[in-house]
Amino acid sequence: MQLKDPQLLRQQAYIDGQWLDADSGQTIAVNNPATGEIIGHVPKMGRAETRRAIEAAEKALPAWSALTAKERANKLRRWFELLMENQDDLGRLMTLEQGKPLAEAKGEIAYAASFIEWFAEEAKRVYGDVIPGHQPDKRLIVIKQPIGVTAAITPWNFPAAMITRKAGPALAAGCTMVIKPASQTPFSALALVELAERAGIPKGVLSVVTGSAGEVGGELTSNPIVRKLSFTGSTEIGRQLMAECAQDIKKVSLELGGNAPFIVFDDADLDAAVEGALISKYRNNGQTCVCANRIYVQDGVYDAFAEKLIAAVGKLKIGNGLEDGTTTGPLIDEKAVAKVQEHIEDAVGKGAKLALGGKPHALGGTFFEPTILLDVPKTAAVAKEETFGPLAPLFRFKDEAEVIAMANDTEFGLASYFYARDLGRVFRVAEALEYGMVGINTGLISNEVAPFGGVKASGLGREGSKYGIEDYLEIKYMCLGGI
Ligand code: ADP
Repeated sequence: MQLKDPQLLRQQAYIDGQWLDADSGQTIAVNNPATGEIIGHVPKMGRAETRRAIEAAEKALPAWSALTAKERANKLRRWFELLMENQDDLGRLMTLEQGKPLAEAKGEIAYAASFIEWFAEEAKRVYGDVIPGHQPDKRLIVIKQPIGVTAAITPWNFPAAMITRKAGPALAAGCTMVIKPASQTPFSALALVELAERAGIPKGVLSVVTGSAGEVGGELTSNPIVRKLSFTGSTEIGRQLMAECAQDIKKVSLELGGNAPFIVFDDADLDAAVEGALISKYRNNGQTCVCANRIYVQDGVYDAFAEKLIAAVGKLKIGNGLEDGTTTGPLIDEKAVAKVQEHIEDAVGKGAKLALGGKPHALGGTFFEPTILLDVPKTAAVAKEETFGPLAPLFRFKDEAEVIAMANDTEFGLASYFYARDLGRVFRVAEALEYGMVGINTGLISNEVAPFGGVKASGLGREGSKYGIEDYLEIKYMCLGGI
């Protein structure tokens, strides 16, 4: 597989500092979505192995949380450096199992590593408070402590970053963590913990259990030792996991589906808007929860914007992510292809016009043509549901009030975007959008220093930024009397 360091392809799970097979000996095959070839296998573990990982995390907790923040930060810093030193191999591994172009995969490794660097720094800034007392003989103090043993369940679209965004703050805060990566992309997760081990993260502090989603997930949500679950994935599964966690009132952080509106007003810089739409819509082949899902364009610039977007999207180069010049890889699997096709057929059936693409790509497999639909009616399924693929549906609108109503008419509230230059409009629209994040005159908003997260059915909690570590801390209030 041409890795500079072949040890980064681990085909066993990592529990309590040991590389292990499943008790049953069963494995899951991992394939390359660009070629269909099997890259390797990982253990198909279940409840028993997960329980062992949780118990190891419990055992490791006292020593890990007792380290000074600086000691934990130093180990995280070393982990960050190793991630960057191995960026080429990690990127390659990701392209092989996920399909995204190599440049994008390496970009994700840098993005993933940035969370470890950031939270290594934030570890030292977990401040408490001294509150002026309510009675003369009392002093009130607030400290923040790690929640304890935590669990993470992560998706395949960002195989590295969705892990570091959780493990970074968890470990920085003094928590320990058991991770279940998506079965489509476990090798990135296993390579990350291989490097964590080399960075000196003690055994049991961070484990990765591969295997059956229902069994591993079921143990993580039902085992009372686990005090918090952080999940990134679909709203449907998030809802189910939250219900499971309700049994013993575990804390939950959820990063769920989005349905991002991307609005272009008459006064927008059209070239910038096209560039933003291209990045927001087609990055990772449309498979991110912050991808533009619905593109609303004001009447006066509709035709000009559509023409420019069609020209720009027409230049995308579809192919194997390891080939030079590829801008767009395959979709993750057949199910993803079916969803894109379903949304296209539904919209066209309701009157939308096909302007570009529209069908599986000549390369075969799960490659799909970047698609643009014009004059999509409000009643189309794509107006309400996330496509998670390379489909850009353009809707027409007349005024601000109309487009805000359409943009907010969804159960989701993760990312939103708009392009406008009038300052009053910028504030009015940004404040009116019911979303956790608003990109204004930009199609790219994610970074480690800003709070990522949604409202409504898009989730709970924030990742990254100074707020991200709060999700892994408990507040303890101490009331000192008799002074
Ligand atoms: P996607 O559609 O993006 O694959 P999912 O929500 O199905 O999103 O998957 C996200 C993560 O949740 C993956 O790691 C997957 O294995 C896991 N998962 C799926 N079903 C369950 C379940 N019933 N219990 C626990 N984890 C699950």
